[in-house]
Amino acid sequence: MQALIVDKFEEGVAATIEEIDEARLPAGEPGDQMVTVAVSHTTVNYKDGLCLTGGGGLVRNYPHVPGIDFAGTVETSDDPRYKPGDQVVLTGWRVGEVWWGGYAEKARVKGDWLVPLPEGLTARQAMAVGTAGLTAMLAVLALEAHGMAPGGRPVLVTGAAGGVGSVAVAILAKRGYTVAAVTGRPETADYLTGLGAATIVPRAELADPPQRPLGRETYTGAVDAVGGAMLSHVLTLIEYGGAAAAVGLAGGAAMPGATVIPFLLRGVSLLGIDSVMKPREGRLEAWRRIAQDLPLDLLETTIVPATLNDVPQLGRDILAGAVRGRVVVDMSA
Ligand code: NDP
Repeated sequence: MQALIVDKFEEGVAATIEEIDEARLPAGEPGDQMVTVAVSHTTVNYKDGLCLTGGGGLVRNYPHVPGIDFAGTVETSDDPRYKPGDQVVLTGWRVGEVWWGGYAEKARVKGDWLVPLPEGLTARQAMAVGTAGLTAMLAVLALEAHGMAPGGRPVLVTGAAGGVGSVAVAILAKRGYTVAAVTGRPETADYLTGLGAATIVPRAELADPPQRPLGRETYTGAVDAVGGAMLSHVLTLIEYGGAAAAVGLAGGAAMPGATVIPFLLRGVSLLGIDSVMKPREGRLEAWRRIAQDLPLDLLETTIVPATLNDVPQLGRDILAGAVRGRVVVDMSA
């Protein structure tokens, strides 16, 4: 089978497409209920960019097959919940980081890590959603569980033209929120308003650490894919009792300029979102809501179509913040 193998050499990490024997797929421990999946679609996420280039210390064992999410058809299964021919989706569980992932014609994973392809979605659409979209939905659900509801001040989405941001904008707009989308790429304004954003906020307005511990109450909540000084800044603009869902760190892990004042004087909450280890029940619920709430025609506008050959370059592009929306890799192309 064909696989995109990442290996480490003296001169650094290199990614090449190779023919490999299927027997090299991970076998699991005795007693694990393994499922072999013929991969039809996979994607390129920010984390894939790191795994493809050796960044972030995510990959510990080489050679490695990255690809943190994929969709496909079950070929063989030790897990009674799956039979050959079933369509399935995988996100998370550190697949593509510590376990061989989706950049191959086949993948072998534990049955517990899979979910059935959500009703109403094709494999291609499920991958247009992928890890990024699942995470966007988890963020929206967390904010709503915290009390956020349509009808109030706008919701801010940072890193809006990226994978998580794009899907967050579309979901929030469909659910009736007024969405303010932060982007560093003014040329994506039409795309973002097409997804339902009411206003575009230039990244430069929020990129620096906040000057004051509290700003004007401007947003009812936020989905933040950027972290860094931007998250510090965003926290000062959330209304009394509101929350920011921290999803990512495309702009850095440290939070320069952050103080405890928004938490103390405005009762603001910071909600951490982790899609990787999210238990199966929560995943199934989020996928169900995605199939129900995500406008599929708009989802189509987020798709950057690609083949396995394009993946190494797209990995570099996503790390440079140059990918708009969601890359969907068609493994049959
Ligand atoms: P993308 O690269 O598609 O999107 C990130 C966006 O952030 C970019 O498109 C850009 O948006 C903005 N951005 C990039 N660099 C900077 C910077 N230096 N300063 C400010 N803004 C910047 O990545 P994803 O959407 O796939 O992932 C976003 C983040 O979420 C990543 O850190 C990823 O690891 C994390 N993540 C976390 C998950 C979880 O479970 N918690 C799951 C999935 C992703 P624009 O051009 O519009 O400004």
